[in-house]
Amino acid sequence: MENFETIAVRTQTERTQFQEHSTPLYLTSSYVFEDSEDMRASFAEEKERNIYSRFTNPNTSEFVEKIVKMEGAEAGYAFATGMAAVFSTFAALLNSGDHIVSARSVFGSTHGLFTKYFTKWNILHSYFNVNEPETIEGLIKPETKILFAESPTNPGVDILDLEYLGEIAKKHDLILIIDNCFATPYIQNPMKYGADLVIHSATKLIDGQGRVLGGVTVGREDLVREIYLFSRNTGPALSPFNAWVLSKSLETLPVRLEKHSENALKVAEFLQDVPQAESVKYPFLKSHPQYEIAKKQMKLGGNIVGFQIKGGLHAGRKFIDKLELCTRSANLGDTRTIVTHPASTTHSKLSSEELEAAGISEGLVRISVGLEHVDDIIADLRQALGSV
Ligand SMILES: *Cc1c(COP(=O)(O)O)cnc(C)c1O
Repeated sequence: MENFETIAVRTQTERTQFQEHSTPLYLTSSYVFEDSEDMRASFAEEKERNIYSRFTNPNTSEFVEKIVKMEGAEAGYAFATGMAAVFSTFAALLNSGDHIVSARSVFGSTHGLFTKYFTKWNILHSYFNVNEPETIEGLIKPETKILFAESPTNPGVDILDLEYLGEIAKKHDLILIIDNCFATPYIQNPMKYGADLVIHSATKLIDGQGRVLGGVTVGREDLVREIYLFSRNTGPALSPFNAWVLSKSLETLPVRLEKHSENALKVAEFLQDVPQAESVKYPFLKSHPQYEIAKKQMKLGGNIVGFQIKGGLHAGRKFIDKLELCTRSANLGDTRTIVTHPASTTHSKLSSEELEAAGISEGLVRISVGLEHVDDIIADLRQALGSV
């Protein structure tokens, strides 16, 4: 098996007659057939080839192949956004009456999907608290089909033991799906621990530069086949242009994440010592409650740091307002450091009980540490904290 960095750089579509070194863009909606027999055989799937770009395209295939290799998966399919990947994966595999067991701390729109839309089709869910994984088995019913989680979680930066989830899924014959967005395939490979499918929002660290949206699901071939057939009919496909951008981005994923994680650890260590911070959460800080699990399943700590500002909602807002270099933005995993205050923004509609259940306190600040010089990032955080 090739090393990760080599896969990232050298997995490429076949060179054309023009002998290009870097993969070109294939902006084409459809592909040409030799004759009616060629066309018949292609539609019958007797041949593996491109038919129409809603199904496959050389750029999306290159992107998918890289993620498949990086995650140690069998197959995959790429989507226009991370949410298209989440929705299509669940919708392809579930029937009315099926049940999902999921961590309560999931991405906001995933929570919206479970609570507002799947309920319309009689697909119900039960949530477990990420800090009480021993309660998971008690939630499993005869109708339960999928066990779902993110690790690290957003925005609480809690860690779930993937090996433990893998054991539960195996014991109860559930499909284990992990949203691996915060870790990326460079830092963590859930399939090693028994995940059947892995989902990424490629919009975040995979693009890494805040440019395009994308998503991907990889994993067991039989399950990906179902997802592919569903998507071929319903049309959530990734655009070739975005696939081309994302595949190029993957070439630098390892070097970017080494630096992101180095900067993030320094930011976390800085915050540990400031009087305005009540507590700091970063997977590779020894004080993280699940530090040992993080060390077991993650290669690096990643770029997300969570900290608790003293003074709750008011202090959180004031701190965000005073930032000069770091940006107030909804994205994460960008080269630019982004700071968010979930209680007053993304999660402002939740009651205080719901906030607590989701692992969010009023003073929680999430930092997506970027690739600026770490001294400049820390200087900005220090001056903003000074005014709280
Ligand atoms: C952003 C995000 C998504 C959704 O991805 P989009 O590309 O924005 O649709 C899903 N899961 C997690 C954990 C995310 O951070």
